[in-house]
Amino acid sequence: MHSVYGYDAFRGHQAAAIEQVAGGGDAVVLMPTGGGKSLCYQIPALLREGTGVVVSPLIALMHDQVDALVRNGVRAAYLNSGQQPHERADVERAYLAGELDLLYIAPERLSNPAVQRFLEGGTVALFAIDEAHCVAQWGHDFRPDYLALGDLAERWPDVPRIALTATATEATHREITERLHLGGAEHYVSSFDRPNIQYRISPKAEVRRQLLEFVRSEGRDAEGNPVPGIVYALSRASTEKYAAYLAEHGIDAVPYHAGLPPEVRRRTQDRFLREEGVVVVATIAFGMGIDKPDVRFVAHVDLPKSVEGYYQETGRAGRDGLPATAWLAYGLQDVVQQRRMIDESPGDLAHRRRMQSHLDAMLALCETVDCRRQNLLGYFGERSTPCGNCDTCLVPPASWDGTVPSQKLLSTIVRLQRERGQRFGAGHLVDILRGKQTARMTQYGHDRLATFGLGADLSDAQWRGVVRQLLAQGILQTVGEYGVITLTDEAAAVLSGDRTVSFRVDADRPARSRGSSRS
Ligand code: ADP
Ligand code: ZN
Repeated sequence: MHSVYGYDAFRGHQAAAIEQVAGGGDAVVLMPTGGGKSLCYQIPALLREGTGVVVSPLIALMHDQVDALVRNGVRAAYLNSGQQPHERADVERAYLAGELDLLYIAPERLSNPAVQRFLEGGTVALFAIDEAHCVAQWGHDFRPDYLALGDLAERWPDVPRIALTATATEATHREITERLHLGGAEHYVSSFDRPNIQYRISPKAEVRRQLLEFVRSEGRDAEGNPVPGIVYALSRASTEKYAAYLAEHGIDAVPYHAGLPPEVRRRTQDRFLREEGVVVVATIAFGMGIDKPDVRFVAHVDLPKSVEGYYQETGRAGRDGLPATAWLAYGLQDVVQQRRMIDESPGDLAHRRRMQSHLDAMLALCETVDCRRQNLLGYFGERSTPCGNCDTCLVPPASWDGTVPSQKLLSTIVRLQRERGQRFGAGHLVDILRGKQTARMTQYGHDRLATFGLGADLSDAQWRGVVRQLLAQGILQTVGEYGVITLTDEAAAVLSGDRTVSFRVDADRPARSRGSSRS
């Protein structure tokens, strides 16, 4: 550690995991992003005879890691499909000659019998399986190629294996252990808390304006210089739209997505790493393997598909341990859209259920009236106390009794469905309750419904909040491609008055952080 990396001391479970693997044992390492997972397999690979074989799912990631290692004087190389035949031949020769400390390989290569025979021609010091959560079918990032990695145990029974990940619920942890045949491994589980990250989640009102306000409030250091940040959006088109909007308003914002030419992406990545205060507006294609410690904020303008994804993306903020902010804006439309994507997804029923439960957990985080961090850590099986550094801790949300408005909405849906066999999306239901005389209203005769105009006491935005929170609480659900809304079994108790419903009062703007000074 000292001579190769120049560090003074190990962190957390590093030393224990290194000893275990260097001594020939297996290990499962769960450590948050920035925790220092790489050392856990790199040092044992240097200590043991032969080459440490590292399975890594991303070619870009491999390239950067190998570059950094070579700069430190470690004999590292990688094999992937992007290489020229002669480059590959050079690496293969070096491996067989025992001249490599570390060899990075993509998972699909390692499951190839020819590649396995090739590896048997040399000496494997250990197998490191990075991003090990990719083996978990229950997880958010499953990759079928990872399943074959379980066979390494049988083929190389004497070679230690270490699986590492920065995102694992208890279920994923169990799957990693089973599927990678790590029954005899030692487990090193770190806290997933990132105390320097302040979590904030706001309902969407006018998201562009909210984003601009957020970036302006977060985007300067103590000397008034702009700070680097990442904004995540769902579609390629919207990354360009938001970047253009921020740029118009004086922010140094650039879009990044997989549809841009490689040289443009490379330039954006270089600018982000080297210059001060560049804001990248990106799809989730951006960020994996980018080791930039001083990212001061991560913003999401669309709802992430899972808590795991959200945690991974927000984890790119504040890796240097200094204050950083994770801000998310989400609205009813996000819920409807994601639900539709799940319904239309090509997977089987089990797959759709999995996606739905990921979405449910994400919504529960968004709508909680308790500490965000407690909810987030609880999702990863970790107990904690209220953190004092999230929006709900800093400004406890008011809640209101939404039982009566919920009953009005639910009974409108029941009447339409039972009496007329009709089902509608949120927009029209809100129009009925608000008593709006639209063309559709007269066409269907909905202005004669008993609940027509019965909800004029709430605004459109408040009603949309009611629908959104009822969806999040599992009292309503959307079905089909038009975002049609129906009741779940939970609704009966609300209608009968046996169950009350309580909602967060929507703040229409992001909470301010306590002071904006950053050191
Ligand atoms: P992870 O893979 O868990 O996200 P890395 O292995 O990339 O984390 O390490 C994160 C950062 O911390 C890197 O810049 C790395 O050089 C640094 N680091 C790791 N271990 C130590 C240590 N013991 N002392 C100081 N810095 C460390
Ligand atoms: Zn909190």
